[in-house]
Amino acid sequence: MRGVLLLAVLAVGVAIAVNGLSGSPDPAPPSSTSPPPSGPGPAGEVPRAAPGAPATPGGDGLGVADGAVPDHTGVFDESVPGVTRLDPVLLGALRAAATDAAADGVTFVVDSGWRSPAYQRHLLDEAIAEHGSEAEALRWVASPRTSAHVSGDAVDIGPSRADEWLSLHGAGYGLCQVYGNEPWHYELRPEAVGGSCPAMYPDPTHDPRMRG
Ligand SMILES: [Zn+2]
Repeated sequence: MRGVLLLAVLAVGVAIAVNGLSGSPDPAPPSSTSPPPSGPGPAGEVPRAAPGAPATPGGDGLGVADGAVPDHTGVFDESVPGVTRLDPVLLGALRAAATDAAADGVTFVVDSGWRSPAYQRHLLDEAIAEHGSEAEALRWVASPRTSAHVSGDAVDIGPSRADEWLSLHGAGYGLCQVYGNEPWHYELRPEAVGGSCPAMYPDPTHDPRMRG
C-alpha cells in the first residue's frame, strides 16, 4: 500500500513537473515557427543574426547577404558581406587597429558593417516602431539613402572594451566615433591620423549628410 501511494505521488509530481515545463498538458508546439528573440541591439541599433540561424534577422527575408552579421564576427572575416563589403580603406584601418588592440588583449567584434538598402529600411522601420515616430527613430538609424552603412563607410564595433580602446587609439588609424550617442559607430577620417578626430555630432540628426 505504501509503495502504491509513493508511486502515485511520484506520478503526480512528474505530471506537475512536465506540465510546469510546457505550460499546458498538451505537447509543446513545434518551436520552428516561433522566431528567436531578436530585440534591437544597444540603443536600438542592429539585431544580430545568430550563427547557423536562418538568415532572417527580421523575418523579411533579409539575411547575411543583406548585411546581417552573425554573432562573434571579427574584422578579419572574409565571408560575411557586412564585413567584406566595407570600404577597403576603412576595413584596412580597422584590421590594423584590431591587430594592435589584440596585443592589448582587446578583441574587436563587428556588430554591423555594410548593409543593403533593404536591410537599412528594415532597421529604420523597426526603430520607428520602437521609438514611435520617424523623427525620433532617425536619431538612431539613418535612412537607406543617407546611411554610411549602406555605402560601406561605417562600422559598429563591440564590445564596449573595444569601443573604449578605439576611443583612445582610433584616431591614429583614422578611425573616429562620429556620433556622441553611438560609441560603437566608427567611420574613417584620414585627417585624424597624427592628430585627433573631428568633433562629434550629438546624434545623427545633427549630421548634415543625413539631411536632404
Ligand atoms: Zn552604425
